[in-house]
This record gives sequence, C-alpha cells and structure tokens, in this order.
Amino acid sequence: MKKIAIYGKGGIGKSTTVSNISASLASMGLVVLQIGCDPKADSTRNLTGGKNIPTVLETLRKNGDADLEELVYKSTTGVLCVEAGGPVPGVGCAGRGIITAFEKLEELDAYEKYNPDIILYDVLGDVVCGGFAMPIRGGYAEEVCIVTSGEMMSLYAASNISYAVKSFENRGYASLKGLILNAKNIEGENELVDNAAKEIETSVIYRMPRHPLVQKAEEQGKTVVEAFPDSDMAEHYRNLAKLLLDGGDAK
Ligand code: ADP
Ligand code: SF4
Ligand code: MG
Repeated sequence: MKKIAIYGKGGIGKSTTVSNISASLASMGLVVLQIGCDPKADSTRNLTGGKNIPTVLETLRKNGDADLEELVYKSTTGVLCVEAGGPVPGVGCAGRGIITAFEKLEELDAYEKYNPDIILYDVLGDVVCGGFAMPIRGGYAEEVCIVTSGEMMSLYAASNISYAVKSFENRGYASLKGLILNAKNIEGENELVDNAAKEIETSVIYRMPRHPLVQKAEEQGKTVVEAFPDSDMAEHYRNLAKLLLDGGDAK
C-alpha cells in the first residue's frame, strides 16, 4: 500500500491534481482511496459528479456510531472518496478534525476492509500546524509532494510545508518527494520554481501546464481524465500518476 500526501496553498490546484491522479490510477485497475483534508471538503467533487459528499465530521456529529459505508463513498470512477471535513466555523480546530477522521477510519478498519493499493491525502498547506501536519506525523503518508505555481504565496507555503516534513524526517516519518509545478503562466515561472526547489533542497518532479479543459471538465463535475481521456492534459495526469506510483526519479 502506497501512501502519498499532496500539500499546497489553498486554490493552487491540489484537489484538481489529486482527483485526476486518482481517476488515472483507478482506470488502470488499482484500488484508490482519496482522503480530502481541507475544511473546504471539495477534494473529491470531480469524482462524484460535481456534488460534495457528506464529510466524516458532519456524519459523526449526527451519529457518532456511523458505519464505514457512511464515511467512505465509492465514486462512479471507482475511487473510494473520503472528506474529513471541518469544524463548525468559529468553533473548534480543523486539524483536530482531521485527526478525528483518521482515527475513526482506523477504528472501523477502513484500510483492512478496502485494502487500497494507494492512498492519496489532499491536504491544505496554508497552516502547517500540528493538525494539518498529521498526515506527515502520524505515519499516515510515506511521501509528500507539494503543488505550487511560481506565485510568491504558493512558494511560501511550499517552503513551510517542506520545513515541516524535514523536521519530522529524521524520526522516520514521511519524506519529501518533490514539487509539482501547477502552472499559472506567470513570467519566469519555471525558473522561480526551480530556484525555490533548490532552496528547499528538492526537485520539481512534474510540470503541469495550465489548460482550459480543466474548467470544462469541472463544469461537467468530472476529472479531465474522465471527461477528455484523449487530451494532452489527461496524458499529463496519467504520466504524473505513473510517476507517483512507480516512484520514478525526478525529471
Ligand atoms: P485546491 O484544491 O488547491 O484548493 P483546486 O484544485 O480546487 O485547488 O483548484 C482551484 C481552481 O484552479 C479550480 O477551479 C481548477 O479548475 C483550477 N485549476 C487547477 N489546476 C489547473 C490547471 N492545470 N489548469 C487550469 N485550471 C486549473
Ligand atoms: Fe487547529 Fe491548527 Fe487551527 Fe490551531 S491553527 S486551531 S491547531 S487547525
Ligand atoms: Mg482542494
């Protein structure tokens, strides 16, 4: 079982990237579990026809004894979808929510029951507090990738996340696999991200172009891989999926 966490600033394209990776791997016949760890709770939206599924926290707030089937939603693409969810706004701690969701999945033996080939955590990386670092710290994810563009704020988040990963690395937790450049097409973007990677002492493992088909697919409530399987962009997502699966070297 491979376990990878994808971090990055809010709005940078984590969920788009992760759900396309999940759909790619599911179409190759793998059992994929995608866990959204963002109070926005829309990680798996493009896998579930554009609808938000109930979150683990919402479901548990209504019924603390909920069954596993109420927390894990099997999408039409075959991907097993979970949204950790968030606290009631203004009350509680989002990170604590992530921990609660993880603990409940474990308690209900989700990993044994579904036996996924790969688990992808889609994690908000604006605040790298103890809660949001849980996928790194708790032995949940083995590898971390960071989605970034050349924009300063996303590079700032990338730097923070890499710092968190490295500070736990020595204790045998997750290691940093590298950056995924999700292009915003700003001037000098490749160089800006290359320089940031050098500073963080990592590499850019993939350069994902900005593409209008992403929005077109989203309008249909689908991933690009599902809506436009023959497009260049779908091929990019499948390439990235294979790279993460095979643990191939940076290119
Ligand atoms: P996050 O999960 O990091 O908050 P999302 O995946 O929800 O971000 O993406 C934010 C917006 O950016 C979405 O509306 C999505 O359509 C768009 N987007 C993401 N990646 C691309 C891309 N490579 N090309 C074009 N639009 C993209
Ligand atoms: Fe919780 Fe982190 Fe927010 Fe603090 S910063 S309340 S630990 S989510
Ligand atoms: Mg998201």
